[in-house]
Amino acid sequence: PEPVPTAAASAPDLGARLDDLRREYAALQARGLSLDLTRGKPSAEQLDLSDALLALPGEGVHTAEGGTDTRNYGGLAGLPELRRIFAELLGVPVEQLLAQGNASLTLMYDTVVQALLFGVPGSERPWSREEQVTFICPVPGYDRHFAVCEELGIRMVTVPMTPDGPDAEAVAALVADDPSIKGLWTVPTYGNPDGSVVSEAVARRLVSMPTAAPDFRIFWDNAYAVHHLTEHEAKSANAIDLAAEAGNPDRVLMFASTSKITFAGSGVAFFASSPANVSWFTKHLAIRSIGPDKVNHLRHAMFFGDADGVRAHMRKHREILAPKFSAVTSILESRLGGAGVAAWTDPDGGYFVSVDVVPGTASRVVTLAKEAGIALTPAGATFPYGRDPQDRNIRLAPSMPPLEEVQVAMDGVATCILLAAAEAATA
Ligand code: PMP
Repeated sequence: PEPVPTAAASAPDLGARLDDLRREYAALQARGLSLDLTRGKPSAEQLDLSDALLALPGEGVHTAEGGTDTRNYGGLAGLPELRRIFAELLGVPVEQLLAQGNASLTLMYDTVVQALLFGVPGSERPWSREEQVTFICPVPGYDRHFAVCEELGIRMVTVPMTPDGPDAEAVAALVADDPSIKGLWTVPTYGNPDGSVVSEAVARRLVSMPTAAPDFRIFWDNAYAVHHLTEHEAKSANAIDLAAEAGNPDRVLMFASTSKITFAGSGVAFFASSPANVSWFTKHLAIRSIGPDKVNHLRHAMFFGDADGVRAHMRKHREILAPKFSAVTSILESRLGGAGVAAWTDPDGGYFVSVDVVPGTASRVVTLAKEAGIALTPAGATFPYGRDPQDRNIRLAPSMPPLEEVQVAMDGVATCILLAAAEAATA
């Protein structure tokens, strides 16, 4: 990545280009574009890769392994044949993996709510009976994690992200003395939005660090475990095993889903953890539900066949996505490389590119883009409460629009970044 820009770095020559940039921006506006890089949704072309699911399991096909009639109630843990496939991919024992509904976000929300209402194994009391509950939020991070905390009254403290995951020393220092810290969010593989991968060393530190709270949990949101964009396929650290080895078997709660493998709205979500946490989760689940959608589980198991089937399927996604990501990074490089106005990630997987612009200009860039017909994720979205203290980070999501639109949009975004930097330099 480019070095992180500072306001001063860009000041001298950009100011002189202000008039040119204003003309360039006016020309951009005159094109009357309507483009959208806001959310990490799969494109229709990607969804088409899984269209065979719509004909599965097929009329008359409803019996799963062991004779289970998938149409009926029951089977709270999810269909074993599907759990086996994802246990292999996620590196967890199948008995410690649950297959559930269509959204891992729901499983995360339920986990936090259950912890607030009942406590987790090792809690002295329900989290809601504590004077304060705090989660550590590495930034930039995923806005929906922060929204869960905000809605449920959980205080958020931030630590910086590094290319190897959350700044583990900063996390360790916080959890060591503050018993109100009950949780840490992390997206270990191809993080949202920065594409970082938690290294084995960071994972070991996080699962073994002493914590003032006896019931501290890491929300290990492995949403992009198999979502590679290059041949360099990152392998997530096996946090659940590492935590057990470190003598903290209940520290890690893993979440994942097929939302960006099959259908974002009709996939299957997974929860994995220690035996104690899985039975804790299942005990409450048993009150909430008589069983998950096993017909959906069956059709997913038939569609993939095995873990290699998932890997082969992900290579088809990669063929569609990789050119869009290269368009983003190559346009940023050709328009902004060496200008000192932006630093960006070049991820090996996941759904996002994270851009740091001149401090104080991110919201201006987003406004300029909007007024030129290019919708970007709101500035600040990657921080708790939507507030980026430096007004610097922008998350780009290039998966949804066709390649040509990604190219046009990114060229426009580059113009907006330059113009905002030039304005700041001359202000
Ligand atoms: N976690 C992360 C890090 C994500 O980026 C997303 C999707 N944007 C989700 C979870 C949501 O996953 P699901 O569809 O399984 O709720």
